[in-house]
Amino acid sequence: MTTEQVLDLKQRLAKVHRIMTAGGLWPLTKGHVSARIPGTDRVLILGHIHSEGRNLADTDVDDICTIDIDGKPIEGRIEPVDERYAHTAVLKARADVQSVVHCHATYATAFGIAGVPIIPVGNRGGIFAPKVPILDFDRQIDTPERGNLVRDAIGDGYAVVLKNHGVVCCGDSIENACIVAFALEETAQLQWLATALGKPQPISSGEVRRVMTGKSHEEYFSHVWGHYAAMDPWDKKK
Ligand SMILES: [Zn+2]
Repeated sequence: MTTEQVLDLKQRLAKVHRIMTAGGLWPLTKGHVSARIPGTDRVLILGHIHSEGRNLADTDVDDICTIDIDGKPIEGRIEPVDERYAHTAVLKARADVQSVVHCHATYATAFGIAGVPIIPVGNRGGIFAPKVPILDFDRQIDTPERGNLVRDAIGDGYAVVLKNHGVVCCGDSIENACIVAFALEETAQLQWLATALGKPQPISSGEVRRVMTGKSHEEYFSHVWGHYAAMDPWDKKK
């Protein structure tokens, strides 16, 4: 990749940090997103800007670090986040994944605490069929071994809930991983509301198949990106 292409990746990565902050996906602004540098064994990931007292609403390209696929720092003005192994283990195992999100989204995390799996409900739940696994491990994902626990739990799915901690989501692009994180939180919120009213009914297997295949699958992502992209506070300043 050219230097310009890597800079473009960093800009997109910084942007989704700002968008996910605006969307409330990380209480206390804690969370991070990574992206594979295509064709390499290198990964771009947020630096530990929390240690600077920084807010993710202002994430910029020089807050992004480069690490190798095993989590070893390569380049960056600050240290990469400690929980980088939640990202590298999934990226290493899954050639289809280009980007990973880790956040402590409130509703999805609550399902892990309760030990209740998130099921495919509502308009955005189809990609989570048959259910989102819960990893029964509540420590920080700050070693390669702990990263492998996340890798094994997420399997070939889009998301895993880490009990009493948060979630890990993935996608085939930076934007799509961000969309998965929002979809998971929206689905969890809907399931929580439905549970207050009665027994939640998952969407049909036919609808799951539709969402998971062909043009409908592409549209699941492409039709909503503009909605999330418009949440970037930097665009509103212009
Ligand atoms: Zn965490």
